[in-house]
Amino acid sequence: MTCPAQTPLTDRLRSLVDTVQHNERTLRRFQDVELRLIGARDFASFLDTLFSSLPREFALSSVTLWLDERAPMLLELLDPAALRVLERPNLNTSREGRVVAERLCKGGQPWLGTPRELDQATRRAFFGKAPAPASAILLPLAAGDTVSGYLCLGSSDVDRFGHDMATDILERFASIVTASLDNVAHRERLKQLGMTDPLTGLSNRRYFDERLREELMCAARYSVPVACLFIDIDSFKRINDTYGHQTGDRAIAAVAACVRQQVRLGDTVARYGGEEFAAVLQGDRADARTVAERVRAAVEKLDLLDDDGARIALSVSIGVAARTVSGSPAEAVALGRAMMEEADRAMYRAKHNGRNRVEMLLKASPESTLRDVPSQSASAN
Ligand code: GH3
Ligand code: MG
Ligand code: MG
Repeated sequence: MTCPAQTPLTDRLRSLVDTVQHNERTLRRFQDVELRLIGARDFASFLDTLFSSLPREFALSSVTLWLDERAPMLLELLDPAALRVLERPNLNTSREGRVVAERLCKGGQPWLGTPRELDQATRRAFFGKAPAPASAILLPLAAGDTVSGYLCLGSSDVDRFGHDMATDILERFASIVTASLDNVAHRERLKQLGMTDPLTGLSNRRYFDERLREELMCAARYSVPVACLFIDIDSFKRINDTYGHQTGDRAIAAVAACVRQQVRLGDTVARYGGEEFAAVLQGDRADARTVAERVRAAVEKLDLLDDDGARIALSVSIGVAARTVSGSPAEAVALGRAMMEEADRAMYRAKHNGRNRVEMLLKASPESTLRDVPSQSASAN
């Protein structure tokens, strides 16, 4: 016996499943581009990913970006002269571009449609002299109330970006572009300030010590746990001796990128010394151990090849120190130093116990109190 209502329901279910599967495939492809954007070491490679990988992956006929030079993060990073150096036809910072984009994206909503139906001045402001795509979506790059720019994706298919299209996946992508832009702005800033290690693109020790102090002050204020990892490449001298210094440098860069990938975007990772890295994370002992174990396993799986194409085995030893901090932040510098010393000692234990391991010191006190420095003013009065 068949129920007449069954068929439409089955059809609906199938169409729902199809949509879910289609979205999953799209998200996975986006993920690759997103990872590259998040990991972009500088503004030039960020733009390369947007303007080359994105159109290739998604069969787009054009990708254009309008950036607001006045947005705080870009002001901090890119003086107009720096933007001019990066001049590309699809990067636009004109005032007209902003006026047009603001008008189209009313209330911060994406605009979709056929640019050919827009008036010429509007088209010109966004696409310059290039022919406008058959259909396009204009996505605001916004964090909170601040719009730092607009991303425009164009297609030669007039039906691709229609008014009734669901935009949630693209809006999510726009928020990742916004966060990555912020990230790359900070990286460029750090470079300007001499706080970045040129080989790995990670922060250097000077920046790390400063960040650790800030993290501890923040942790004290909100009574949240904070952790440090001390990471040292195993038997690195042998890699230099066997494959040469240049390959050694490549190994350091590969491990750096791998560590960076295994921690959260907001966590700080630094090259602390030659073949040593440090990370500061928000989280307790268990969280930090999990992250450290993930880093260790990922480095072990790295596919670094020598000049003849043979795989070079790499591993790291990691020491972990974690604290729940309370009290006043005045002694954050001393506590940061103590935590790094503890992580360093734990790392040496990992070396001692056979390398390619994660260790923490059992006796370490997980609770630390930051106290006020005694006031000097009493004796002055
Ligand atoms: P262990 O497992 O005990 O850590 O052994 P190791 O050989 O890694 O330890 P050691 O600290 O003795 O050696 C580190 C080596 O890293 C020595 C140094 O020449 C090399 N090194 C430091 N900085 C760089 C760099 O920037 N590039 C290259 N290629 N090598 C570096
Ligand atoms: Mg070392
Ligand atoms: Mg070493």
